Amino acid sequence: MDSLITRRDMLRQVGVLSGAGALVAFTPEWIWALQAKPQPDALAQMRAGMGATPITSQSLGPNITMLAGPGGNVVVLNGPDGKVVVDTFVQPAWNNLKATLDKMGSQRIATLIDTHWHFDHADNNGSFRKAGAAIVAHDNTKKRLSESHELLGAKFPPAPAGALPTQTFANMHKLDANGEQIVLNHIPPAHTDTDISIHFQKANVLHLGDVYFNGMYPFIDASTGGSIGGMINGATSAMKQADANTKIVPGHGPLGDLKQLTAYCDVLVTVRDRIAKLKKSGQTLQQVLAASPTKDLDATWGKGFMTPNDFLTIVYNTI
Ligand SMILES: [Zn+2]
Repeated sequence: MDSLITRRDMLRQVGVLSGAGALVAFTPEWIWALQAKPQPDALAQMRAGMGATPITSQSLGPNITMLAGPGGNVVVLNGPDGKVVVDTFVQPAWNNLKATLDKMGSQRIATLIDTHWHFDHADNNGSFRKAGAAIVAHDNTKKRLSESHELLGAKFPPAPAGALPTQTFANMHKLDANGEQIVLNHIPPAHTDTDISIHFQKANVLHLGDVYFNGMYPFIDASTGGSIGGMINGATSAMKQADANTKIVPGHGPLGDLKQLTAYCDVLVTVRDRIAKLKKSGQTLQQVLAASPTKDLDATWGKGFMTPNDFLTIVYNTI
């Protein structure tokens, strides 16, 4: 393990997966419990910590809603063809999520879409399958969910067959439901190698999963193909899909728009360029971190659980 990536750093990164809105769930008791417990419990602790977060709801249009709280941001399109849901929250939040969906109307849950493989987005795939939903995702999401992984100090076993996507695609997939045209596009490796964007064309809602952290430095999962360059390319191509009125849903953080996505992308480019220059000049990671090369940005963008040093380390290592 890189000497700079300490257990404490890993724990801080754990919080990133919950997004700023869920940080209240990360009580000191929970953090200390996680520090004290052996690795095998880390996933259960993360699930419990995030799962206790309440669900908040925000209308994005007449039949489309954003839910936030116990995991990555969820979008629900409702109507006579059945509910189409993007992302799932974590397992302990399932009963709360199901109750929230039921309150929106008696329509069945027709389709679930996974933005990518991470557990705070796809953890309830099995419950959605049991509720009768088809699951649409990128080919690599099924592949990654079928493998075991170590990430953020936790071990992720392969998902059971009943929690895997039922329909996968490589490049693009279209879905018509409830008078809406939904276009799913693969994003070349960015946050992971499983990322897709989901564009509800009539409602003009664009869900970008974890390629977009609104207002904060993003987590990038280099262990499954993520890189700073990929994040910049993903955010840049997403900007071309959006107009001034597009409601842009980030994986974590509040609802965004083109202006905010552009500011986020500009920050990624600025940080990448500064670190690339230092790395090219022969500076070690330790030297780069000691120089605080993003001091002017950190006050605004480094306030999530992704500290400036966490983020700079990922950027340095994935350039
Ligand atoms: Zn993620």
